[in-house]
Amino acid sequence: MESPELSFTLVYVVFCLCFVFTPTEFHSAGLTIQNLFSSWLGSEDLGFVQYHVRRTTVTLLVHSALPIGYYMGMCVAAPDRNLGYVFQVSDGWRAFLLLSLCVQVTSWMFIIYWSRHHWHNHPISRALEAHMHPSHSDWCSVAASINTEFRRIDKFATGAPGARVIVTDSWVLKVTTYHVYVALQSECHVTVTESRQHQLSPDSASPAQILTLRVDSINPAVKPFDIRLQSTEYGDLREKLHAPIRNAANVVIHQTISELFLETFRAQVELNQPYPLPTGQEVESCIGCMQVLACTKLVKLCHTDGSESDSDCQQCFCRPMWCLSCLGRWFASRQDQQRPETWLSSTVPCPTCRARFCILDVCAVR
Ligand SMILES: [Zn+2]
Ligand SMILES: [Zn+2]
Ligand SMILES: [Zn+2]
Repeated sequence: MESPELSFTLVYVVFCLCFVFTPTEFHSAGLTIQNLFSSWLGSEDLGFVQYHVRRTTVTLLVHSALPIGYYMGMCVAAPDRNLGYVFQVSDGWRAFLLLSLCVQVTSWMFIIYWSRHHWHNHPISRALEAHMHPSHSDWCSVAASINTEFRRIDKFATGAPGARVIVTDSWVLKVTTYHVYVALQSECHVTVTESRQHQLSPDSASPAQILTLRVDSINPAVKPFDIRLQSTEYGDLREKLHAPIRNAANVVIHQTISELFLETFRAQVELNQPYPLPTGQEVESCIGCMQVLACTKLVKLCHTDGSESDSDCQQCFCRPMWCLSCLGRWFASRQDQQRPETWLSSTVPCPTCRARFCILDVCAVR
């Protein structure tokens, strides 16, 4: 393959991946289905269900046109292959063209089938139909109930546009690229199944714990689905979600940034060199919580190699007095709560003698 073809292929593959999975850069550039077709899609606030029926339809249509777009682009990028003359091209290209056309035609057939009887066959309408009984006569009346509740400003909403979670007064909704999952709050129960921790690092703005919750419904027609959210949003979710939440994996949910920071703090202290307790010295209980032994000692370790050290840390001469959790909480409490990205690099005074220390100076007592 010559270089213009290869470069076009690479660029097109990257473009397709970004277009389908839409990273933040593509969102800010406005290269999303929602933006490109905004005038036809209408307003999500006015008609949530109708909007997503249209959006998923356009999404399917545009995504299924990507292979044929590649073929057409190739006609321009590699004119010497004569891809425009279908009967002269190689078997491989002809098969590709046929396959792309099949994909496109199939998606059109799906859409025509969905759109019959006022979009009655669309997967979203089908999902709503499962909730018709007892209070609604048809799926349109379920849709009207969702639309009304979505318009209220006190709903809970979170997540990237491709995986948005919305909880209204009586509904739990999850919006994905091709579908909207719906469960009635009064019929569902929720289970915390997984937690992933992203620690505070120099390139992340704040530590994060991502929770995965499974929404099951007692209604057999409703398939269970997973929702994801940050642990700091869990409190807001609880406020809106009246369904019982079970914590299956015994996940410890850190609802504040300080609690999340404690994990990072612990991990960093593990990396620092330990402090060997001098012989004859006894370790006492932590004077903060009186629950566990004091297991930390502040030793000025940062910038020990550079002679002209610019750190403002000082040597602390206190004996071990604090446990790791208490010292971590103290460290977090002295930070700018609005800017967690500065926490790792800042210094705080020793709680006892006020000598300044940074996270690199905290040693575990061995
Ligand atoms: Zn303590
Ligand atoms: Zn001290
Ligand atoms: Zn230091």
